[in-house]
Amino acid sequence: MKRLFEGNAPRVFVFDFDNTIANTAASPDSAMKGVEEASREAIGAVFGAYGTEALLKIGGAGNRSPRELIEELLQAGAAEDARSLMCGSALGYLGKHRSALMQCVPEGKGQSLALTVPATLDTMTEIFVRAKLLILLPQVGESWPRRIPGAAFFQEEAGWRGRTCGILSAGHERFITRFYETHHRKPLPMVTDDDIRGSLCKDWMKPDERLLRYALRKFGCFCVPMDDVLYLGDDLVRDGLMAKAAGTRFGWYNPAGRAPATPLWDGAFEFRRYDELSGAIFGTAWAVRV
Ligand SMILES: [Mg+2]
Repeated sequence: MKRLFEGNAPRVFVFDFDNTIANTAASPDSAMKGVEEASREAIGAVFGAYGTEALLKIGGAGNRSPRELIEELLQAGAAEDARSLMCGSALGYLGKHRSALMQCVPEGKGQSLALTVPATLDTMTEIFVRAKLLILLPQVGESWPRRIPGAAFFQEEAGWRGRTCGILSAGHERFITRFYETHHRKPLPMVTDDDIRGSLCKDWMKPDERLLRYALRKFGCFCVPMDDVLYLGDDLVRDGLMAKAAGTRFGWYNPAGRAPATPLWDGAFEFRRYDELSGAIFGTAWAVRV
């Protein structure tokens, strides 16, 4: 890679988490469930047969945010009383699993689980998110999700060089924290979907640039010019277009060398390995073990 930023490394690095820091797209071994499978199982458990059917209709959870997913499930079914079917099933599930669900999200974050009839989109989304976490959290360990080679070391290097690092993710705090703890690292400051769901900005989702500005404020970066911020992510649309709209630079993590469906723009670049990125930004040489 050629040298980036002419020796003036950005002051702030914001990372996406899924498939930028941790390889959550890969299926875990044997009896464990990947994110897509956990979503499917959680939909079935929370919303019953109606939920499973509607999920098939929309072609699986894909890369949708939880809120988008539940909203589409509500619209996907033929049943006129879709909402009441899903709501009844979800409230039954909540009644049975309330105390376990309370443990999945830090206190004061996420949406309240206060029981309302009919359940709102927010409550249904919250129950689904926590049901999915109930499946995924116990699986986080050495073997899944694997670390993206060099990502942790790159973060440490940026820290040694006085740079601020943080995570902006549609994922979840307990999951990300457990991932870092498993690998004996201190978690970076983070803004996750748990911070967004229960807040006034619950409709914001990548590529909404307000999310990135909100995260920078949370990281204490009030007076940093946007072009002194580098956002790193694997999704050219959700991550890339958010960075572009916010006016930050964007590093597209593209290990497989995929051809971009969205062409890169001025201020965006591709990288395939973190050691190469380190060389291009800081001029240092270290090699990841791939
Ligand atoms: Mg990602």
